[in-house]
Amino acid sequence: MLGLGGMMPLPQRWLSAMLLRSGSDVVLVDCGEGTQISWRYSGWGFRPVNAILITHFHADHVGGIAGVLFMIAHSGRTEPLVILGPKGTYQVVQALTVVVPGLPFQVQIVELEGGDSYTLPGGLEIKTLEGDHRVPCLCYTFSVSRSPRFEPEKARALDIPLTSWSKLQAGETVDIDGRRFTPDQVLGPPRRGLKVGYITDTRPTPAMPDFVRDADLLVCEGTYGDPELRERALKRGHMVFDQAASIARDADARRLILTHFSPSMMEPEQYLHFAQEIFPASELGEQHRTITLAFDDQDDKRDSISD
Ligand SMILES: [Zn+2]
Ligand SMILES: [Zn+2]
Repeated sequence: MLGLGGMMPLPQRWLSAMLLRSGSDVVLVDCGEGTQISWRYSGWGFRPVNAILITHFHADHVGGIAGVLFMIAHSGRTEPLVILGPKGTYQVVQALTVVVPGLPFQVQIVELEGGDSYTLPGGLEIKTLEGDHRVPCLCYTFSVSRSPRFEPEKARALDIPLTSWSKLQAGETVDIDGRRFTPDQVLGPPRRGLKVGYITDTRPTPAMPDFVRDADLLVCEGTYGDPELRERALKRGHMVFDQAASIARDADARRLILTHFSPSMMEPEQYLHFAQEIFPASELGEQHRTITLAFDDQDDKRDSISD
């Protein structure tokens, strides 16, 4: 998490943004003013980023794009970078990048609608859902699929030569001496992958739990903590903590991280219990904290705060 604030950056609180890495894919989600400074504090490099995702075009989510592209250029990146966002992203990015001409890498712009999917070069799969804000807004999920386990004892029992194992493991069918073998003969049951949801600047909608169903981690806005501010939140296209927690609960998510705090809420910890009463695994976001998610049978779940 690079920041946790909504509306304006504060001296101790950067605007909400997240960096996410999966294999060779590194994604920045949202890019308000000052994101490049918080990014530097985080210790994550600029060069590997290959995608910037925008939820919507309010300044607290896009105002830092020029500065971030400038930093990525200075990091030595020459490989292309994709910027994804709702309809209108092309125009907004064109306007914002007038002040950073001559970038040494190609910027590809992709406009998405709710329900679209996009796969990054490293295999990270992105899906979108329309939010309900005062302007068009997209929620995102990031998924890593996992192939079934290869079961050598099955391959041995079928007398499949070792040289064909990798093909079967990769999902290919092989023919050996007139015999045909298919991957399902040597692979185990399907395995759960990993999923992260990112929902901000939106009222809760009935489609959200299904969209982030079974997420390992849901990052969701809680612009206000006090449930008494529910009306204000709805009017401004936001949520209070317990509404975010209800989405996490209804989605059977494993963990919820709250973000996008209003500048009027200086002590969000006062209100965390409202979320935890509904979804116990609710936490407040922490700036520059890195969370590592592992597949279910890999015991290396690690958390760290790198600042
Ligand atoms: Zn915002
Ligand atoms: Zn907004």
